Amino acid sequence: MPIATVNPATGEVLKCFDPLSPEEIETRLQRAASAFTRYRLTSIEDRGRWLEAAAGILEGGAASIAEMVTTEMGKPISAARAEVEKCARGCRFYARSGRELLADEPVDGSAVGARRAYACYQPLGPVLAVMPWNFPLWQVMRFAAPALMAGNVALLKHSSNVPQSALFLEELFQRAGFGDGVFQTLLMGADQVEPVLRDPRVRAATLTGSTPAGRSIGAIAGGALKPSVLELGGSDPFIVMPSADLERAAEVAVRARCQNNGQSCIAAKRFIVHDSVADDFERRFVDRMGALRLGDPLDEDTDIGPLATEQGRLDVEELVADAVDKGASLLCGGRRPEGAGWYYPPTVVSGVTPAMRMFSEEVFGPVASLFRVGDIDEAVALANATDFGLGSNAWTQDPAEQDRFVRDLDAGAVFINGMTTSYPELPFGGVKESGYGRELAAHGIREFCNVKTVWLGGG
Ligand code: NAP
Repeated sequence: MPIATVNPATGEVLKCFDPLSPEEIETRLQRAASAFTRYRLTSIEDRGRWLEAAAGILEGGAASIAEMVTTEMGKPISAARAEVEKCARGCRFYARSGRELLADEPVDGSAVGARRAYACYQPLGPVLAVMPWNFPLWQVMRFAAPALMAGNVALLKHSSNVPQSALFLEELFQRAGFGDGVFQTLLMGADQVEPVLRDPRVRAATLTGSTPAGRSIGAIAGGALKPSVLELGGSDPFIVMPSADLERAAEVAVRARCQNNGQSCIAAKRFIVHDSVADDFERRFVDRMGALRLGDPLDEDTDIGPLATEQGRLDVEELVADAVDKGASLLCGGRRPEGAGWYYPPTVVSGVTPAMRMFSEEVFGPVASLFRVGDIDEAVALANATDFGLGSNAWTQDPAEQDRFVRDLDAGAVFINGMTTSYPELPFGGVKESGYGRELAAHGIREFCNVKTVWLGGG
């Protein structure tokens, strides 16, 4: 895949970049290793100040940064601004809570024959981050803010279609005061990742992306005995039970499916509705999906912009065609509009069966599949009938049903009467083929730490 900015709204190639040569990569690896020897000794206060400075730069430049993001990957401009602001919030969260999250953890020395004993969190070294284009800043920030706060240094291999976002991030951390080599962007293709990950100077890896990419990175990291965090795909269920507030559930369902032009790992993708409210929910949901405004993502009134890549649209079209060929019904959408750009309309499909690819594969675009179930057992079974396990949503006012969903949905998160969202304060990650490890909150900052045991004897 060429490393280039191609405007998804027009298909126009705006800027191309050459991938780094092996020699250039070697220079950057040396710089990372050397930066780590200095950076690991910096104080947590300094790191916090630099993260606060990064937040300030993001907030001060939000309008132009958002425009760059929208032009690179097509999300509506309002969503791009919200992403920039969220990055600032993530920086501030770790700047302010880093000391507490990384504090030494004392244990009773007498229980282990010590004068004093504790566990402490120390950085590992250079960490390689392989990142996706769908939230080109936030996906990186939720790794980088905690990793840098903990004293690691970062090497970013970003998606080949967002090189300007990738370069902006390097510049951001530089301008914020992090020293030379603390955060470096490696413009390179996926085929150049393996030697970097195997390099002994690289101590750990994190990948956010598709399940196949995760398998590959996980296998290489495992072979080299390096820790890894994998944040992969999802096909989140959105369950609606009879006691749900249907109006609110339908409104949130549309957002949960169509945020980021339908290209979010934690987008609700499978809508599982109790028979007794299915007709009512379907009408409200389909009406709202059909009313979304598809158009120029730089226009403030646009709800849905183009998909990020031409291939991404072809993939979505293939999944919808497969379902329709095998007997599913289209309740709205399902046909690309005429004209330039990789637009695809909000689409609702009913009658999806296990024979259809959409039943088991992730649809990375604004396409919802609707299912009907007779009771909560069926709802839970269908929700869990997937290889993924990232987020999950359930709508019910019944406390017993809420408890059941919290206990039985096999996913990294469950949101009751709300939509799955990432917050710096909450851990984020999946189970099954959605990956392993956690980002954000305390868990995210400790992933790339050596939990060092300290035992101090008397004398
Ligand atoms: P992708 O094709 O897997 O690419 C993600 C990143 O991995 C890119 O930088 C890509 O580089 C690189 N890559 C791909 N194959 C690789 C390999 N074999 N070895 C090393 N690097 C490789 O995914 P995407 O299309 O960008 O993103 C969409 C996917 O990400 C969806 O499945 C979505 O659900 C998932 N996602 C998950 C989360 C989460 O937190 N769980 C968040 C966002 C997205 P190139 O661009 O150069 O190919």
